[in-house]
Amino acid sequence: MTTKFEPVIGLEIHVQLASKTKLFCSCPNGVGEDTKPNTAVCPRCTGQPGVLPVLTEGAVKLAVKAGLALGCKINEYSTFSRKHYFYPDLPKGYQITQFDKPINGAGSIEITFGPKENLQKKKIGIHHAHLEEDASKSAHFEDYSLIDFNRAGCPLLEIVSMPDMRSPEEAYAYLTEIKRLMKWVEASNCDMEKGELRVDVNVSLRPVGQEKFGTRCEIKNLNSFKAVKDALYYEINRQTELLNNGGQVVQETRLWDKEQNVTRPMRSKEDALDYRYCPEPDLPPIVLKHEWLEEVKKQMPELPAQKEAKFMAAGLNAYDAGVLTSSLDLATYFEAVTAGEKVPVKTASNWIQTDLLGMLHAEKKEIAQSPISAQTLAELLEMVEGGKITRKQGRDVFDKIWQEGGSPKAIVEKLGMVQVSDEGQLEEWAKAAIEANPKAVADYKKGNKAAIGALVGGVMKASKGKANPRLISQLLAKLLA
Ligand SMILES: [Zn+2]
Repeated sequence: MTTKFEPVIGLEIHVQLASKTKLFCSCPNGVGEDTKPNTAVCPRCTGQPGVLPVLTEGAVKLAVKAGLALGCKINEYSTFSRKHYFYPDLPKGYQITQFDKPINGAGSIEITFGPKENLQKKKIGIHHAHLEEDASKSAHFEDYSLIDFNRAGCPLLEIVSMPDMRSPEEAYAYLTEIKRLMKWVEASNCDMEKGELRVDVNVSLRPVGQEKFGTRCEIKNLNSFKAVKDALYYEINRQTELLNNGGQVVQETRLWDKEQNVTRPMRSKEDALDYRYCPEPDLPPIVLKHEWLEEVKKQMPELPAQKEAKFMAAGLNAYDAGVLTSSLDLATYFEAVTAGEKVPVKTASNWIQTDLLGMLHAEKKEIAQSPISAQTLAELLEMVEGGKITRKQGRDVFDKIWQEGGSPKAIVEKLGMVQVSDEGQLEEWAKAAIEANPKAVADYKKGNKAAIGALVGGVMKASKGKANPRLISQLLAKLLA
């Protein structure tokens, strides 16, 4: 007999904070691959003897903003600790991190997952989120290795979730939400290709109905959302088979091999004891002044959940509201298009999702790089909504502005794109269409109302797309009555 198991998943996410400088020195932060190795360094971040760390304010501020976005309790008093381990990319022989008194205490976020028509929400707890410095980067070659210290000392925020996730889909949704929030408050750029967001997952199984957690495995350094999902699926299957065959899960750290699609043991999991944590003697505690904290709170943008609720109250469904709040830039764009209240929210949502995002995606551009500004799109949609031009003409104008720039009004005038609403002219086209389509007319009269489509099409063709489709339908119905 096989037991039915339930996965218990927790994530530890490292995000690189987007501050100007490193955490404990004034070297530039996050210089990237195109900067020559070992040029963004100083005696502090290379761990030279006799130097002392100096905490930089920028990173602390971003950590607090991130904490506020995660609904964390911000600790006005927090401390640094040393985490000891030996590795060539760690010049001091220890990492400065936060251990028992992190800057961000417990919090929670809400994730959304499931099919488009039936989205589910779930609250996931955040255990805490602490500040720490990054290690440098080693590159291994056949018989030698090189170290680049440009990344050493860059500020990281480690976000530790509660073990609240029960499926790879929930873990994926959690990651998506963390990334959205961190980018939203500009705490991190979260570019996974640049290693600005790195994920470790913890997963264990327990028989359905049992409260006590099983033995967990940690899978380290997953560098894409897909890898997280794939590794979790693999690990859940591996542990299920193991347990059903009478085996036991060993607490260990495993690595994801994305070529073979398997996890492999890396080392037995170390406990906190192995790191010999101790208070960092070279740094005073971080004490946040009350006024400073209030000022940071004031600078926080409205968070995505609040915006989503607003968009839904204005008439969008949960899915559309989710898409339009996937980034602050997109939400702001949507708000600007609908600000004049002349463009219905659903119309704006459709154009942005289908036309604008479609084009941006095809050209691998971000919303901030859109050749069509929110004001321009609003102007264009007002013309379509007001019946000045048809939707199809609107799309042609959209394409023209995308290519060449310009204002919708000028382009509509230049191309002579006016929607024809003149009844005499429409009637002439309608009569011609009826004459040319006897079959459609017969079908329509037999009760097939959809047959009118062929006649509308005929008029549109004759008018070169300029006829007002709503008026044509009315007119045809009248003539055929
Ligand atoms: Zn430095």
